[in-house]
Parts: sequence; structure tokens; C-alpha cells
Amino acid sequence: MDVIPQEIIRRKRDGGEISADEIAAFIAGLTREEITEGQAAAFAMAVFFRGMTRNETVALTLAMRDSGDVMRWPGIDRPVADKHSTGGVGDNVSLMLAPIVAACGLAVPMISGRGLGHTGGTLDKLQSIPGYNVMPDPDLLRRVVSEVGCAIIGQTGDLAPADRRLYAIRDVTATVESVPLITASILSKKLAAGLQTLVLDVKVGNGAFMAGCEEAQTLARSLVEVANGAGTRTTALLTDMNQPLADAAGNALEVRNAVDFLSGRKGGTRLHDVVVALAVEMLLQAGLAANQDDARVAALEALDSGKALEVFARMVHALGGPTDFVEKCDAYLPKAAVVVPVPAAEGGWLAASATRELGLAVVELGGGRKRPQDTIDHAVGLAGIQPLGTRVTKGEPLAFVHAVDQAQGEKIAASVARCFVIAAEPPEDMPVIVERIS
Ligand code: URA
Repeated sequence: MDVIPQEIIRRKRDGGEISADEIAAFIAGLTREEITEGQAAAFAMAVFFRGMTRNETVALTLAMRDSGDVMRWPGIDRPVADKHSTGGVGDNVSLMLAPIVAACGLAVPMISGRGLGHTGGTLDKLQSIPGYNVMPDPDLLRRVVSEVGCAIIGQTGDLAPADRRLYAIRDVTATVESVPLITASILSKKLAAGLQTLVLDVKVGNGAFMAGCEEAQTLARSLVEVANGAGTRTTALLTDMNQPLADAAGNALEVRNAVDFLSGRKGGTRLHDVVVALAVEMLLQAGLAANQDDARVAALEALDSGKALEVFARMVHALGGPTDFVEKCDAYLPKAAVVVPVPAAEGGWLAASATRELGLAVVELGGGRKRPQDTIDHAVGLAGIQPLGTRVTKGEPLAFVHAVDQAQGEKIAASVARCFVIAAEPPEDMPVIVERIS
């Protein structure tokens, strides 16, 4: 390493700018473990307080992307695209979006992650499917993307190792909540997948990491500008996370919900609106549709014709799952021992939900991790969650808790009941697509 790490840290600490070469050298040193944990922590804290310019954030993103393998897709004659969500509750969008846009002609190597905090992770959801291999070797991944059109998998090989190291240090030094560091962390992993285009689903509301609209907009703008600055055409949708998006939260329950969705049984929902809006965005970006209307028609045709369901079924089988998974998903998915209803304490309108707490209820049931090394129970969670704006009568179920035993189910049902506000008046309409940022 031909730069002195403490000099770089010092300049950032004092509010100065670091050059792209210096950032590249620092990140190379971090990857080779020549930079100590203390130096990396001090760097993260300096960035936390002083921020980074757009140029610095682009340089950090590219340096972290290039710290490991960067995938290439020779021989794939479709546009290569992906979506990233900043995470929410009942956010199973990836499971439907990837097959829909693959059915429309995109190639989607979707690198997904585990649950984080109160939010679920696509990887954990897919692991409820028996035999599904979330870590295929590069040849199998390439074959599935080429032949099926999409593969939703985990972080394979040596993708952005600098982020792995820096993230672990940020996690224990109170430096996670920094827009440039979050931007570089998310984008380095996504861009290492060799994408031509990317759409971001930035969640906003009481079930998102960014509860306030202004902070979500700031993150979305940073992600969009830096990804475009790094050469990947990117737009973002800000979407509402003031209630669970799907009517289920929990791993196998969300997979079941996705199969229902792809079978045409979830039309007219907020989930449907978000999935279709993101599909439209992806098709437009890739040039597979001339305008919004054409993109929407193509996405709906892929969904309504059953083509997207077929792509999902082929992906599951190609990655090791059962051939007849979608026909017999109830027989294959793990089931909780008991299902306990959550009765409404009074009649009225569902006016608000403590969405983060609903996510934490799933973690409490065992459907998420309290420590990184925890194993999770794929069967547990919440299902039949009523959307806000529903009129309920006293005693009517607001949701159903899928639990390990009756005692656990009743305990969680009581806390889930407290997550809902029932009012005498219907709530104001809350649009699910809040804003588009390009
Ligand atoms: N997700 C990431 O991958 N990185 C962050 O820094 C925050 C969320």
C-alpha cells in the first residue's frame, strides 16, 4: 500500500476530500487486511460525521465492487438487470418480480441477502423450499440465468469482500447509518453482478429502515446518482412501508403468498401495484418497452398468462427444488404446529399498524435471527394480515399467527393485536408508490 492510511483518515476527519486513487488504495488495503480494524472503524466514523461527495462515493463503490469477483455475462443475449429493496415487512416482491421480467425478456441474476433486523430476507424465504440451492456454482448460475431467465441466489464466490469486512466493522461501531457508506455497501454488491440496469425499491415508513420521507429521498437520490455515476443505468421508486406489503410475513408463508400471486390470486392489492410498477421500470430501463403503457401491458401479460409462474417453477427446479413445487407447494413448504387468530379488540376501521413491531413479532416467533449464527424456523410467521382501510367487526381476525405451540401463538397474537390501531373513521388513502427518482 503506497498511501498512509492515517493520513487519509485525518483528511476525512477534518472535512477534506479524498481522491479516487487514495480510496482505491485504502479499500485494497482493507481487503488484504493490511488496514487494521481500528483504522477501518476510524475511517467509517470520519465518513459518518463528514459525509462524502458524490465523486468520493462513486470511487468508494467502485473500489469495493472491484475488491472481488465482478461477474460478466458473455453469451447472454438479453439485457442483464436487477432490483434491490432497502427492506421491509412482508416484502416478497423479488420472488414475483424476477420471473415476471424474465418472462418479458430480461436476464436477472438476483443476488439476495438474509433478513436484517426486523426485515425479512429473500434468501431465507427461498430456503423454505426443499432442495433449493441458494449457492449454486458459477456454471450452474450461468446456465439457469441463460436457460430460465432468472436465478435468485445468495452472495456466491468472492463478491465485494471489502464490503463484508467494512460492514462487519460498521455493525459494531455505530456507523451503519451513513448515506455514503450504505450507498457504497449496497451498490458494490449489486454492481459486482455485472448488471446493465438496476431499479431500487426504497422503502419509507414505520416498517422501513428509513421511516421519514426526507431521509428515504436522500438515500434514494444518493443510490441513483452513484449507480449512474458508476455506469449502471438506475432509477428508484420510493414505496410505502407503513404496513406489511404482502398479507403474510414469515419465510414459507411469503413463498406461499408468492405462488398465489403468480397464480393470479393477489390482483388488486398494494403488493400487485408495487410489483407491476417495478416491472414497468425494469422493462423501460432495458429498452424492452417503448413507454409505460407498453411495459405495463407486457408485465401483466407475463403474469396473467401464467408465463411468470412457469419461469418461477423452472427456476426452483433448476436450482434443485421439486419439479412440481408450484402445483404442490402446500405439501412441500414447512407448516407451523399451530395457527392462532388475532381478534380485533373492537369494531371499526384499521387505521394504522406498528409495522416494525410486526416484523419483530416474526423474529420473536423464530422466523428471523436475534444473533447472526441463529438458525431460523421457516414455518412460523403471520398470515392473512388485513390491510389498512379494512372495516372490521369486534373479534374478527386481523391476522393469524403461525407458531411453534399454543402458548407462543397466544403470546405473539396478543402483541400483534397491539400493533393495530382501530379507529371510528377510515384512514386517508395512502398511495403505495410514493415517488419516482431518476
Ligand atoms: N444493506 C447493505 O447491504 N449495506 C448497508 O450498509 C445497509 C443495508
